Order: sequence, then C-alpha cells, then structure tokens
Amino acid sequence: METLEKEKTEFRNYNQGDITAAVKEHYRKMRLYQTYDYVQKMKAKYLTFDKPMLLWDAMEKLNALIDVSDPDLDLPNVQHLLQSAEAMRAEGRPDWMQLVGLIHDLGKAMYLWGSDEDGTSQAEQWGLVGDVFVVGCKLPDSCVYPEFNELNPDMQLEQYNTELGIYEEGCGLDNVELAWGHDEYLYQVLKNHSENTIPEEGMVMVRYHSFYPWHTGGSYTKITNAKDDQYKEWIKDFNKYDLYTKSQKLYNLDEMKAYYLPIAEKYLGKGPIYW
Ligand code: FE
Ligand code: FE
Repeated sequence: METLEKEKTEFRNYNQGDITAAVKEHYRKMRLYQTYDYVQKMKAKYLTFDKPMLLWDAMEKLNALIDVSDPDLDLPNVQHLLQSAEAMRAEGRPDWMQLVGLIHDLGKAMYLWGSDEDGTSQAEQWGLVGDVFVVGCKLPDSCVYPEFNELNPDMQLEQYNTELGIYEEGCGLDNVELAWGHDEYLYQVLKNHSENTIPEEGMVMVRYHSFYPWHTGGSYTKITNAKDDQYKEWIKDFNKYDLYTKSQKLYNLDEMKAYYLPIAEKYLGKGPIYW
C-alpha cells in the first residue's frame, strides 16, 4: 500500500474535538431509532429494485454526499471509493476486488430517494451510514459509544434483550438482521441484478464491511458459525483498504473512468442497475 500519512491508531478516533459532537449525535440517533421493526420497514420501503440508474451515474451522485459518521474523512464519498480502489490496484489485487473497493459504499445513493424521518437523507444519516449491529438481540459493549445502547427501545423487550434474542445459536450472519444502512442496501441491489458476477468474497465485503462490533469488536460469537470465520478473513483483508487509505488525496472521477468502467462492465454488464 502507499505510504500512509497517518498511523493506524489515528483512525477511528471518536474523541477529537469538533467532529466528535456530530459523530456522537449520529450514533445516539442510530441507537435510538434502529429497532427490529424499523429495519423491517426500511427493507419493505427501499428493496423495490424499480429505479434504474447506471453505475457511473451513482458514482457521480456520491460526489455530493459527505458521510457524517466518519471521523477520518470530510471529502465527498466518491473520493473515499477512489482511494480504496486505487490502493487495491497499486497492490495488484484482483480486478473484482478493485471494483468492490470502488463501489462498496454506493448503497449510500439511497439518500437520493431517502427522507429525514427514515434517517436516509443528507441531513439525517442514521439509517444510511455508521457501524451496524444486529437487531433482534442484545447490543454488545463493543459498539462505539456503548453508553447509547440503553436508548434502544428493543432493549426493553424480553424477546430482544438477550445474547441470542430471536436467533438460534450458530445460525450464521446470513440469517440475522443488521441495522439498516448502505451495506445491506447495495448487497441486495447487486444480488437482484441478474448480470452480477462479483465473486462471493466481494459480495460479503459489500454486505458486512460496516459490521465493526463483529469483525473488529469480536462480539456475536453465539450467533456466528464457521462460515462467518471465513467471511471475517475476507472482511479484514478488505478493511485495510476501506479504513487506512483515507486521506486528503483527491482523484478526478472522469479520469478514473477509463480504467474502472470496463471492470465494472465485466462484472455487472453495461445496462442500468435497478435500485
Ligand atoms: Fe461503508
Ligand atoms: Fe467505505
């Protein structure tokens, strides 16, 4: 990877003055509003796959979005996508992985048809971005700002406030419900896209990259199974590029198109994707 300007310990520091207040408020709302019922509502509302948009148009739309939950980056989100992909490319990682680096946050395009009440708009992003957790069981202390866990209404309900909650032991991550956000949205959009040939590893990177309490926090050991250990290795590999490449370096999206669009067309076809 390129020489890093920041040491690893300088990333994901949630206590650094100014930006802390906004990030903390984001997580307070996320914990307060992201309940099991809310997630079901969002799935019904957004997983309709009836809005055609070309991949590159979605990239351009992310030029207008800044992720409020990210303490490491205050650039348009598309710059983070280019930084991740370019770091993978520099290390000669496979083309499908470079593509995943390029598109992994494209689910944030949900803000185009989002709303403040859902937390899926530019102004309210608690249903769009940020570390996710499992809904339907107890929130772990490995969540950022664990002091907000008690604000979650589900934690007052007997069926949801135990380590297993509504789930069976060892059921695996593919069988649990995560807080709603851009990971699951893009995963479902790509899964629904018949021309998609991104390998399983890449689809897992898209779906679980924001699931920090699991992949970095080490929680949810009762729910996960052996398949998830494999998932975790893939995510850890991906995470190096998602997290430690964040910098002020700027790329020109148009200039990048000549290299990345053919890779995108190889794995996703040339036609529109239905969001
Ligand atoms: Fe993300
Ligand atoms: Fe990312």
